[in-house]
Parts: sequence; structure tokens; C-alpha cells
Amino acid sequence: MAMAFEPEHAALQGFKTIIEPFRIHSTQQIPFPTREERLEAIRKAGWNLFGLRSEDVIIDMLTDSGTGAMSARQWAGMMEGDETYAGSRSYYAFRDAVHEITGFQEVIPTHQGRAAERILFSILGGKGKVIPSNTHFDTTRANVEYSGAKAVDLVIQEGRIPSSEHPFKGNMDIAALDKCISEVGAENVPVVMLTVTNNSGGGQPVSLENIRAVRAVCDKYKVPFFLDACRFAENAWFIKMREASCAHMTPMEIANAMFAQADGCTMSAKKDGMANIGGFLAMKCPEVAARCRDLLILTEGFPTYGGLAGYDMEAIAIGLREALDPLYLCYRARSTAYLAEKATSAGVPIMKPVGGHAVYLDASALLPHIPREEFPAQALALALYVEGGVRGCEIGSLMFGDVAKMELVRLAMPRRTYTQSHLDYVGEVIERVAAKARAKELNGYRIVEQSQWLRHFTVKLEPLQAYKL
Ligand SMILES: *Cc1c(COP(=O)(O)O)cnc(C)c1O
Repeated sequence: MAMAFEPEHAALQGFKTIIEPFRIHSTQQIPFPTREERLEAIRKAGWNLFGLRSEDVIIDMLTDSGTGAMSARQWAGMMEGDETYAGSRSYYAFRDAVHEITGFQEVIPTHQGRAAERILFSILGGKGKVIPSNTHFDTTRANVEYSGAKAVDLVIQEGRIPSSEHPFKGNMDIAALDKCISEVGAENVPVVMLTVTNNSGGGQPVSLENIRAVRAVCDKYKVPFFLDACRFAENAWFIKMREASCAHMTPMEIANAMFAQADGCTMSAKKDGMANIGGFLAMKCPEVAARCRDLLILTEGFPTYGGLAGYDMEAIAIGLREALDPLYLCYRARSTAYLAEKATSAGVPIMKPVGGHAVYLDASALLPHIPREEFPAQALALALYVEGGVRGCEIGSLMFGDVAKMELVRLAMPRRTYTQSHLDYVGEVIERVAAKARAKELNGYRIVEQSQWLRHFTVKLEPLQAYKL
């Protein structure tokens, strides 16, 4: 994957190709269902990609959550996992890694990010409270609202415009944050959240300058400030690449600087924890942490394991540090950009600039003949599957209903899992599907069965015309 020479790749001595900075040590067979088998599988699944089995999929880009490959070091760490119920050595290794990166003293392990959110908002949320963020991730919003509080998204204007090339489209609108807190009253804002990178906005980063500005507003109103830190390492890399004052810093130094501005964080270790499961809640305040631990014992587990096995905590302790390796981050950002270039050269518009963990294809631009009511992004996602066995995820009217602002297909990048040739293949599949789209050979869908909440997971659809063989 050629790119402009990166200083971090001085090790490559002037060669332009950013290679995967790992060798493959164990492999998993990729299934190769035929096109006929794929059509049959998706028909049986009610034209819902969530209904497929992994054997039905050739390249799975449904999500980057928990789908990455662990390193030999992480697997070795798992063998050292200490399954002691109370006071496990693995907990202390985990706590030390989180502390080294975040500086937070109070480290509470949970089974996933959403468990950390549920515990935090059970304590800080409640009726009448307002919790601002750049953009709440869907589980975060759901947990805020379940507590009775209101979740407010205050991302900068550019963050809502797909074609805007702003380098930090995840930034909080600082004036809007100030206005929001002064209007509802600081006593009704128990915490300000900031998602790094901004997942729902396309994996767009937040600048260190913006993080500091959020801190200043929180100081002015004496409101605590938490990061939703799921992709903190990718965010640190974008800061290094795009924020001139940080260019000389290591990703670890930048992560330290990001967390130094905050009072706490929620984290899904399934993202930049480089693990297949896990999460944590970390903070400065011992009093709030004590209340969180009371809830933790109720539903997750004893405070030195939360919802995790000792071996999970070992894997996360190692994974968190590996996520900050500049060679890894350079390769990660480069491979996402590489896939984006493939889509662009196939004439498929994408959300810009390319974020950290996924490429978002703009279905409404490619399929102007399919109206919103017929789910153009789902039509595109289904065509990528039927034509090439590539599974992405619809992020549009099927997921959000009438309030959807865009019709996108997200191709998420599992960490350290696919190679450049896999991405070349995905690029070819995109090309073939784009040609079909331009020939108006793709058609819309209608819903035949749906549930009231988060319908996209279980909805059943029907093509409006028979899918062309
Ligand atoms: C994945 C994610 C979560 C939730 O984490 P889970 O481990 O899936 O429960 C929260 N916030 C963001 C930004 C995420 O990407």
C-alpha cells in the first residue's frame, strides 16, 4: 500500500509501501459460498445481513468490535491468566495498563463498554438530567435515556456534512456546549461525554485542542468530563498526523495528554483494547468509583474481575499498549484509507475524510433511482454480499427510520485480520456492484416484519423485484 512517506516508517528506509507490521502465525479458513449459495442464505435470512452465519460470508466487515486478531503476546498472556476470584494478579496487570495510559486511579473492569455505561449513568443520570456529547454512540444514548436523562449531540457543523474535509470532524461545538449547560443549568448536567473517535460520525477524530476546550467549559461550570475512549489510540494517531503541535509526540504521550484533560472514561476493549471481549470504567473520583463498584457487584462481578476472566484482563492489558504502537497505527490508518481509495476509483462516493475504523459508502449518490422508503443503503449492502460475499452494515433509513440523515454502508475494518489482497478483492466487489448500480440493476426493498426497538437487527425484508441472477 503506497503512500506519502511517513516519518514513523523510517524503519522502511525510504520504501513507500506500508506493509502489515506482523507475520501471520495461525490462520482461519475463509469460507467460499458460491453466488447461488449466498442468494439462498440471504433469502433465508429475510434479506437481513445480521441473520447470516459466519460460514455464509467471505469477507466480514460488519463491525470492528471484538473481531480483530490477537497477538502471540496476548495469547501467551492469556495462558498466564490468574483466575483468582478476589485480588487476581491479572487484575493488577490490567489496572496498571489502564493507569499507565489514562492516569486514572480507579479502574473497574466490565464485560463490555455498555456495561460501563450502564453503571455510570445509573449513578450520574436520572430524570431531569442532560448529558451532552459530540455524538453519543447508540448504546451510550440508550443507557443515558434508560436512566431517564436526556442525551444531546453537539458535534461541530462540519461533522454533519459528509463531503467536508475538516481534519477533526468529531470536535465538540464548544459554543453550543457552553450554551447548553448555561440553559439547562450546571446542576442538571452531571457529566459531559466526548466520543474519541466519533464512531457514529464515521470514526472522525477529536483534536487535543478541542478536548482542552471542552475541559475549559467543564471547569467553568464545575461539571465532570468523561471520554468514551473506545478508539482512543486511533484518535491519538490522527492528532499526531493532523495537529501540528503534537507531531513530535508518541501515540502514548498523546493518549496521556488526552486523558489528562478528563475526569474519567468508559471503554470497550473490543475496539482499541485489541481484545475479543471486555471493557472498563475508569475515573479519578474515589467516591463515585465506590458507588459504581456497588452496582458492579450486583450485575457484573467482584471489583477485581468485573465481568471478565483473568485471562481476558491479561489480553486487554497487553492489547491496550499494542494499540499505541506507531507501526500498527500507521498501518491501520493506511489500510482504511487504501480501501477508501479503491471505492473512490470505482466511482463510489464515500464519507470524507476517511475515519479510523471504517469506510462509509454513500448509497444515495450511487442509487438515485431507489427512493429512501426502499432502503438504498440496504440495497447496496445486500448487493455487496450477493455479488462478492462481503458483509457490511447499513447505516441509514433501515437502522434509524425517518430521522436518518444519510444512506450509508459501513465497511468496518477488523483489526490485524485482513491483508492488502483481501482489500483488493473488496475493491473489485465494490467495482462490480457499482457497475450494476449504474445499470440500474439493483432494486429496493420493503419491510415484511419488524420489532419496535433497534429493528435493523431482526427486521425481515423482501426485494421489490426478484434479485437478478
Ligand atoms: C462499541 C462502542 C461502545 C459500546 O461498547 P460495547 O463493548 O459494544 O458494549 C460505546 N461507544 C462507542 C463509541 C463504541 O464504538
